[in-house]
Amino acid sequence: MTKKSSIYVCQNCGWSSLRWLGQCQGCNSWNTLVEEMSEVSKTGKEIKSSEKISDFTISLSQVDALKSSKTRFSTFIDEFDRVLGGEKPNRGMVNGAVMLIGGEPGIGKSTLLTQVVVSMLASKEKKGGNNINSGKIAYICGEENPAQIALRINRLKENNYDQDNLIFISSTNVDSIAKAIKKIKPIVVVVDSIQTLTTFDLTGSAGSVGQVRECAERLTTLAKNLNIPIFLVGHVTKEGIISGPKVLEHIVDSVLELSGDRTGDLRILRAVKNRFGATDEVGVFRMRDFGFESVSNPSELFLEYADGGVPGSATVCVMEGTRPLLIEIQGLVVGSQLAMPRRVGRGIKLSRIQVLAAVLQKHCKLPLSNNDIFASVVGGFDVKEPALDLGLAVAMTSSLVNKTIKEKIVFIGEIGLLGEIRSVSLLDRRIKEARRLGFKKVISKKSHSSINQVLKELGLLK
Ligand SMILES: [Zn+2]
Repeated sequence: MTKKSSIYVCQNCGWSSLRWLGQCQGCNSWNTLVEEMSEVSKTGKEIKSSEKISDFTISLSQVDALKSSKTRFSTFIDEFDRVLGGEKPNRGMVNGAVMLIGGEPGIGKSTLLTQVVVSMLASKEKKGGNNINSGKIAYICGEENPAQIALRINRLKENNYDQDNLIFISSTNVDSIAKAIKKIKPIVVVVDSIQTLTTFDLTGSAGSVGQVRECAERLTTLAKNLNIPIFLVGHVTKEGIISGPKVLEHIVDSVLELSGDRTGDLRILRAVKNRFGATDEVGVFRMRDFGFESVSNPSELFLEYADGGVPGSATVCVMEGTRPLLIEIQGLVVGSQLAMPRRVGRGIKLSRIQVLAAVLQKHCKLPLSNNDIFASVVGGFDVKEPALDLGLAVAMTSSLVNKTIKEKIVFIGEIGLLGEIRSVSLLDRRIKEARRLGFKKVISKKSHSSINQVLKELGLLK
């Protein structure tokens, strides 16, 4: 017995109310409640008589057996496997996992996933035919038609695989899709995108929080039942959240985020949530005419962008996961016309710029309070680590006094409120990476104790 009624559902968190409210009581955001039709079952769900208790109970010894059987399988794209998790050589995705790939429209989510698909199909040939990956791959096209995807695939250089193993499913009805998947029995499913799918059991339109949640839940159940991995493409709204968002993040096993400067050619894949691995690894890709190229040595690439020889530039070393990265920090300090000078950061937290400006003003007597400060990380990278403090402070000072740093130096260190240089984790690995890339001089807590001392030695401070 069901009756139709209308409820108001928060498009941000999924909280629902019987009447419209200006502010969501679940997540406190404003104007997010939208009317949706809902079918309320009066009796609630009854347990099916066919369900066996052994289907959902398991002993500890069985868990261990299950765990060891959880082998991962590779996408044969190294930077992608790195983010999915696992230790080399057993890296990649886990059977039954549902992975959401989010990112702004146009950033390249579909391109990356078609590349993953083709790479996996072609791997059969690479490995001499006895690969665990061999089988069909299903691609659900809700956004584009198969012809458009085929066009993209043709641009990729890889063509040594059986084209019959790639099955396009042109439907947006999640229940028909599930039926097709059960029949095809693919080894991997790609859903592009989750926001285009609907189920007729709900009356909301595609992309509404109710539909997105329900479709994701049905696909998750399918992934667990058939024990196959499913990738879901999810678009990110202007505010930077995946639309139909929080609810989706809770349902899936991993959330991967593809970001980067849309005008530039670098893309960074990061795991925001990962039930099967660490969340601190990043994959770095470079956009080429044919698609994405894995960048296994990002430091070299980031330094390619480094200008040097201009006031306001400094090289730092930050850790992204287990990998040290050398990147350039740029600072621009100019006299301000404003009563409240501007502080603008790209890839750097604003609060870090403010703290460092205050430290330089107090302990190095630099007149930063009358200046606008702009600081950015070159290459569109987003650095959250305090290890960039020292390089940022040097870049800002270098721009202010209009003097370049003459030598090739890498700066590694956090700066405390008293102007002291503080140690950072894994210093030795960072120094090793700097040496590997030809930097003879590294300035860190090992060599210097305060920012004042560093600036004096560089000739930036009298
Ligand atoms: Zn809410």
